Amino acid sequence: MTELGDPRERDTLDLSGEKLAPLVDTFSRRISYLRLSVTDRCDLRCTYCMPERMTFLPKSEVLTLEELYDLASGFIDRGVTKIRITGGEPLVRRDIIDLFRALGRKLGDGLEELTLTTNATQLSSHADDLFKAGVRRVNVSLDTLDPELFAKLTRRDALGRVLDGIKAAKEAGLMVKLNAVALRGANEEGLPELIEWAHGQGHDVTLIEVMPLGDVEEERLDQYLPLDTVRARLKERWTLTDSPASTGGPARYVDIAQTGGRLGFITPHTHNFCDGCNRIRVTATGQLYPCLGGGERVDLRAALRSEAPQEQLARAFDQAMLIKPERHHFRMDERGADPALARHMSMTGG
Ligand code: SAM
Ligand code: SF4
Repeated sequence: MTELGDPRERDTLDLSGEKLAPLVDTFSRRISYLRLSVTDRCDLRCTYCMPERMTFLPKSEVLTLEELYDLASGFIDRGVTKIRITGGEPLVRRDIIDLFRALGRKLGDGLEELTLTTNATQLSSHADDLFKAGVRRVNVSLDTLDPELFAKLTRRDALGRVLDGIKAAKEAGLMVKLNAVALRGANEEGLPELIEWAHGQGHDVTLIEVMPLGDVEEERLDQYLPLDTVRARLKERWTLTDSPASTGGPARYVDIAQTGGRLGFITPHTHNFCDGCNRIRVTATGQLYPCLGGGERVDLRAALRSEAPQEQLARAFDQAMLIKPERHHFRMDERGADPALARHMSMTGG
């Protein structure tokens, strides 16, 4: 018995009776992309993401699959066309495939793309079902190909399972993009090897600068490796040509002549990317954060669990548009400073 049956056979929130106003913030940015976290739990403990002894939320605080579906549907009715399921690790949530199946039925009916960000430890057993549900692209986080360094960075010995997961995804027909966080003194030497391998397998790669989200035991400034430095080093090795490619997100891309692949850079510190922001994030407890780097928040769970969920949700969506800030305020320049934000990436959803 699963938590979420076929939504067509049960009462869901009917937010679609009439054409509802699209989500536009006070800086005239149209919001069309939702990153929806379905759990704060994870089977890895990446050193830049969470401490070894992470405290996870009680299950009662986390939205049910049914609530997640209703929320996502509400957003689709307000013009969201792309949904990325994230976490924590989405694939550790029991019956998560049911949510993919249910949302997959919205593809072509308002929803244009349904994707997933995963650490791939459990991708082998889910790849076929994800494809059948309508997922076509997945982002896999992989920072190194060195098993020892992988175990050190994630505090778990799981590289083999991750590589199996990536292979299974490819075989199932899913496009795989790799995301790697650039970490000073950790994976920086191995980044060219990672990129070369990924491009050889047909996977694009995006590099990410570490962000000061949550307390993680290590000093953030020691982890921080500016991508300008990485790019300059890669330029000595390969021919990089700026690419016009864009996913509408914060990454800037180059094509690498020698590997024949594409490399993206997400640089919240060295370049601000907020002008064209089209996204919002919802945590597994239904807290809408209009900006990853800001404390502004709207409680959608309270709206969902209220006496009048349709009205309350509509009001909460409008409220979020009013408070979405113009830009993020990450700072990496103060050694020993408190984390810019107390919440971990695994909570907000990366
Ligand atoms: N568990 C899944 C995974 O690792 O892909 C999805 C959630 S994870 C929070 C999403 C992304 O956030 C991963 O690519 C991870 O590397 C990145 N991430 C986590 N903490 C970060 C931080 N402090 N700064 C930058 N990226 C971070
Ligand atoms: Fe888990 Fe992803 Fe955070 Fe790593 S980055 S600890 S895989 S949620």
